[in-house]
Amino acid sequence: MRRFKPQNILITGGAGFIGANFIRHCCTHFLPYNIINLDNLTYAANLENLQDLYTEDRFVFIEGDICDADLIFKLLRKYKIDTIINFAAESHVDRSIHDPLIFAKSNVLGTANLLEAARQYWLTELKLSATDCRFYHISTDEVFGSLSLTNAARTEEHRYQPRSPYSASKASADHFVHAYHHTYGLPVVLSHCSNNYGPYQHPEKFIPTIIHACLNGQAIPIYGTGNNIRDWIYVEDHCRAIQTILEQGQLGQSYNIAANNQVDNNTLAQEICLLMDELLPQQQSYTTLITYVPDRLGHDLRYALDTTKIRTTLSWSPQIDLRAGLIKTIAYYMKTNKLEQRNAKISTINRAMI
Ligand code: NAD
Repeated sequence: MRRFKPQNILITGGAGFIGANFIRHCCTHFLPYNIINLDNLTYAANLENLQDLYTEDRFVFIEGDICDADLIFKLLRKYKIDTIINFAAESHVDRSIHDPLIFAKSNVLGTANLLEAARQYWLTELKLSATDCRFYHISTDEVFGSLSLTNAARTEEHRYQPRSPYSASKASADHFVHAYHHTYGLPVVLSHCSNNYGPYQHPEKFIPTIIHACLNGQAIPIYGTGNNIRDWIYVEDHCRAIQTILEQGQLGQSYNIAANNQVDNNTLAQEICLLMDELLPQQQSYTTLITYVPDRLGHDLRYALDTTKIRTTLSWSPQIDLRAGLIKTIAYYMKTNKLEQRNAKISTINRAMI
């Protein structure tokens, strides 16, 4: 099959963790195309993540909401967009428990809005063929629900069993994506990825929380017993998988992406603390900072994905093992933590001088 070659990409949610890493990946590894980053700058966004890219002519940032139908249509026309990659979402399970409706709005309505704009612009207005445009939707392993310790890893064909408002909103968006393919022939691809880690992740997520706590001598909070299992992938491996699926994935298909690093939260926290002991030794091991806090409501025990499809049909495999990825991630947060501390000192000095 001919490889799809995007010309003008609309990336939504590019000021967030994975979107920012993917824009970096585009700029350094693959495409000389125009990249339009649309993000409404929620608390999770950080424009500084892309600061060094703003001088590139082909990179444009637009502040706006994927729920704004007029804006999306204008952007598609103005920048002659032929590819949409939808990263934009409310992404934190804890927040979805406290405020579920914004998840329904951004994750479900926002995705449906993007699909409809793509259908009208590509299929009705330009009458493009399926080989000339792509809608790529970023989904999650959480749509398949919680697994027991002995359940087999989920394939793409497994039925959806979302259990949190976050995973329910992602599952619902996935159904819209498939429906637009089946009903209108919109050329879509979709991927379910496991838990990502790496640079530029918001400090509220588990791995940045552990590293920040170590760097600042604070308690490391672990939910419940710490026995919940997640499958961790370094974000750059996820970005390579997205590129592969975008260029070579079969239309209408979903692909699982994971690196086969299933670890429970206790083991992961211990492992990070022991790495910190090697990299930045203190009198006591960082493991002494680990504490247990009341469990999350409805906390899923385990997620696990079967990645046979992407490995065998698209020849993708992860390249960064967990230890190497954690060392890179710790190094990144050590650097940013130092900068934050230095900036905090400077702002105290300034205030004192005023
Ligand atoms: P993130 O929260 O770091 O970033 C999301 C970005 O989307 C933010 O910059 C935010 O401002 C933006 N956004 C939210 N609502 C928007 C709206 N209505 N309009 C425009 N922009 C909006 O999330 P992330 O971790 O980078 O996740 C990106 C995508 O990958 C999400 O769809 C998420 O469900 C999916 N995913 C994440 C993981 C993970 O481990 N982080 C794993 C699998 C799938």
